[in-house]
Amino acid sequence: MALVEDVIRLLETQDGLTAREICTALKLEPKRERDVYNALLKAAKVLRRKGKTVVMQPPRCRKCGFEFDKIRASKCPRCRSEWIEEARFYLQEL
Ligand SMILES: [Zn+2]
Repeated sequence: MALVEDVIRLLETQDGLTAREICTALKLEPKRERDVYNALLKAAKVLRRKGKTVVMQPPRCRKCGFEFDKIRASKCPRCRSEWIEEARFYLQEL
């Protein structure tokens, strides 16, 4: 739960971060990126009670512009490129 609160506090001061940037900012090991994604999902629920939510700008293929409908992506289904712009997360008032 502590990680969720850290993630929320970070997004309150710095908007539009990727999970990797959150890892770096919180001085977590890169392999904990998965925990950060889980924390972001939980953060959305915690924030709802405060009248806020987490908005995701979905991952996007940098080659053809394909937009994913999931939180994480590694390969573009349209052009097979692995040059993916990661999802960014923002806080928003409800
Ligand atoms: Zn593509």
